[in-house]
Amino acid sequence: MKIDLKSLTQKYDTPLYLYDFDEMTTRYEELKEAFEGHKSLISYAVKANSNLAVIRHLAQMGAGADCVSIGEVKRALTAGVERYKIIFSGVGKRDEEIEEALKRDILMLNLESEAEMKRVELVAKELGKEARISIRVNPNIDPKTHPYISTGLHENKFGVEIDMAKRMYIYAKKSAHLNPVGIHFHIGSQLTELDPIREASMIVADLVRNLRAIDIDIKFFDVGGGLGVVYKDETTICPRDYTEVIFEATRGLDVTLLCEPGRYLMANAGELVTRVLYEKENAGKRFVVVDAAMNDLIRPSLYDAYHNIEAVRMGKRDAGKASEKNVPADVVGPICESGDFFGKNVNLPPLEHDDLLVIHSAGAYGFTMASNYNTRSRAAEVAIVGGADHCIRKRESFEDQVALELACDNSWQKK
Ligand SMILES: *Cc1c(COP(=O)(O)O)cnc(C)c1O
Repeated sequence: MKIDLKSLTQKYDTPLYLYDFDEMTTRYEELKEAFEGHKSLISYAVKANSNLAVIRHLAQMGAGADCVSIGEVKRALTAGVERYKIIFSGVGKRDEEIEEALKRDILMLNLESEAEMKRVELVAKELGKEARISIRVNPNIDPKTHPYISTGLHENKFGVEIDMAKRMYIYAKKSAHLNPVGIHFHIGSQLTELDPIREASMIVADLVRNLRAIDIDIKFFDVGGGLGVVYKDETTICPRDYTEVIFEATRGLDVTLLCEPGRYLMANAGELVTRVLYEKENAGKRFVVVDAAMNDLIRPSLYDAYHNIEAVRMGKRDAGKASEKNVPADVVGPICESGDFFGKNVNLPPLEHDDLLVIHSAGAYGFTMASNYNTRSRAAEVAIVGGADHCIRKRESFEDQVALELACDNSWQKK
């Protein structure tokens, strides 16, 4: 991102999320091209970054949306994603969410249990509709990623076993209110190895062939998301290799290939810019205290995730002083938790009040996981497009935070 951080932080203040929309374009196009020659749909996993401007940008390039709540479905529709490119996934859906999704006539509901299928059938029946469904298969593959973001093993809560999936398809085929059109798997996130994807694709493609033999015609083959990105020095999967594995597994099947990337499109398109408040030392250990915190970006606390942190010094200094060497420091926020850190033993130059730190690779699972913990207002979000900046979410105010509390009648507490 070629930008003037000084003027941007003066204009928008800190902590600040910046997203490089041109990088998103590059990522999307690279993946789309890798599917060339095959019917495909890239359904962006909205949970990675659900800002309307982000979704709209991807939708304008033709992307669909993979949603895990009716709220995300509504975001996708609001941002202009075509309804027939929207998938509704997730292990638990309320009746109201199912009803709304059916009324909106989205592409399909992704089901993760027999019980859920029965609920969907009931709701569809009440509406006099036929629900297009897809079933999430748990292929019992170890994706070799962090256990918190592994989803394709039987011990994980996601999806159903192959045998159960088959029974569900047979049931759905007979039902007047269910139309089984898709099959789905998603074995985990931040995948950096191709073999688990190959194995899962083969297993699921075999199921599609079995189903075809009993006259159940699957049209959408959804390989989920999970493509890994470089946070530090990971070797990642190249899109062409990724799609080649999928093409090979589905050879001979007339299906539309779907994938649901979130992190892949967004992680390295975003950064969190924070201001240095001060430095401190505890018994020789150096800390840099910044104005962003775990409520803004929880990945380090939650997954022990690595984020590259870069110092941008703002003040005038004497260059080349002996004390200008990089020294390891923990970069920490102001929240009352020891888990409130962005990096440990990060090599950083001496820093002063108002210097900036750029926390890289924060475009996915950054802002969407932000909270108001410690009554901290959530950061502003800004899009950078061709060098120009556009605010896409205003900084939250204290008034925004307490509005729903003040909207309640509190006379019962008054004498
Ligand atoms: C989270 C999720 C994704 C996106 O995962 P990434 O690792 O961000 O690509 C895709 N599909 C489903 C079902 C998910 O739960």
